[in-house]
Amino acid sequence: MSTKQGIIKGSKKERQLDFWGKLYFPEIFKGMWFSFKHIFKPTVTIQYPEEKPVLGPEFRGRPVLVQENGKERCVACGLCARACPPLAISMQGAEMEDDQKERYPETFEIDMLRCIFCGYCEEVCPEEAIVMSPDYEINFSSREDAVYGKDRLVIDKAQLKPRLDFLAERRNKNFGEVYNFNEDNNIHTLRNREE
Ligand code: SF4
Ligand code: SF4
Repeated sequence: MSTKQGIIKGSKKERQLDFWGKLYFPEIFKGMWFSFKHIFKPTVTIQYPEEKPVLGPEFRGRPVLVQENGKERCVACGLCARACPPLAISMQGAEMEDDQKERYPETFEIDMLRCIFCGYCEEVCPEEAIVMSPDYEINFSSREDAVYGKDRLVIDKAQLKPRLDFLAERRNKNFGEVYNFNEDNNIHTLRNREE
């Protein structure tokens, strides 16, 4: 039995071509017609790197630390480092000089060779201090250069607004209903920062 594709099916000669298949031209013209039709369709490819893709706030680029009013939000609790599957995060916490109750990361490093952009660090952070940025252009020339310190991680809140707004929209609306905590004593508990 022959088919439209020009291949004889249902027999031992399945791999053999029929008359039209042997001519090749019908299949070639079909392919050319298919390509020709797409000439008039809108282009979906872009000329990267000259042209940059427009990415929505849902895109998970490299993780960065949020800076608010000149200080990083991070309180060096270490949760992100515990949650990070490839152990890409390391930090050293210290007490702030003006407020002994507050901690900050004296050093904070993410090994970009290990990071898999999973977003777990962002998910577990109680302070919304580490978020996934829109930056996907990461390059380095050595293993040492791939370890990003605070100089490359800390980014001002204003630049991360789309992602922070995106996270705020998805915040757990029922938070606080199960445990009736005293807000004054829970300064490091996940909270709505706009309140
Ligand atoms: S995105 Fe995932 S792999 Fe990368 S630092 Fe965060 S938790 Fe680790
Ligand atoms: S989970 Fe958040 S607050 Fe805790 S160390 Fe990581 S970035 Fe800092």
